[in-house]
Amino acid sequence: MTGASRGIGRAIAERLAADGAQVIVHYARNDDLAKETVAAIENAGGRAYAVQAEFEQGVDALFEGLREDRLDIVVNNAAILGGVLGTVNQEQFDRVFAVNVRAPYFVIERSLPLLNDGGRIINISSAVVRIALPDLVYSMTKGALDTLGFSLAPILGPRNITVNTVSPGVTDTDMNAWLRDDPTGGAAVTDLTALGRIGRPEDIAAAVALLASEDSRWITGHVLDVTGGYFLG
Ligand code: NDP
Repeated sequence: MTGASRGIGRAIAERLAADGAQVIVHYARNDDLAKETVAAIENAGGRAYAVQAEFEQGVDALFEGLREDRLDIVVNNAAILGGVLGTVNQEQFDRVFAVNVRAPYFVIERSLPLLNDGGRIINISSAVVRIALPDLVYSMTKGALDTLGFSLAPILGPRNITVNTVSPGVTDTDMNAWLRDDPTGGAAVTDLTALGRIGRPEDIAAAVALLASEDSRWITGHVLDVTGGYFLG
């Protein structure tokens, strides 16, 4: 479970642990927050441990930190934003792709020998693939992730491994710190959302839990919009 120290990743980690999984709480820099996630899971009666790995340097450190040699569920959640056109140099462009696309690709590749047949791969994309926003680089990485899931599903079908993608809308996390200072409470977003509120990390975790469950056994190669009906027109 990548990027599980905070935000959506933490909520997914806590939910999957509550559903019975032992969770590997991956993070990049925030040791304290990763420890908090592990403690929250353990205090609720679940099992978890933290592994640090900065993805721009590759995914090896994550796999060196694993304590077991079998996996049931892989969730690629960690990601970073880019910036608007004209503010992102080539080095920054490469970094966003390294974290958001290269890392999930190699996490999956490294996971495959460990992943049990009948397992689950779930990638966290974004509604930016259908809504034009100014952060072009970030949006492009999420488009790549959608393609990865769609193209990988038939390759892993013979092993009964499903590959699905979850696309959140605007969700209250550090990635949307502006929401916390917005006196309107994000009205510009809620007004365009069918269910009339900002997403919570737990909303996304519930969708991931569904795709991780036995009930999703016949769903693969799918992109699930988890936005509360954002920007439906
Ligand atoms: P946050 O910024 O709150 O958390 C990001 C997580 O990724 C943290 O655990 C962080 O670890 C980890 N991370 C950041 N940089 C790196 C890196 N270089 N290498 C490894 N891990 C890293 O993100 P959100 O919870 O908001 O987003 C989670 C996912 O949901 C992302 O894929 C995002 O694109 C997607 N999403 C989010 C939306 C939103 O509105 N929030 C909307 C649509 C999609 P650390 O704490 O150590 O830095």
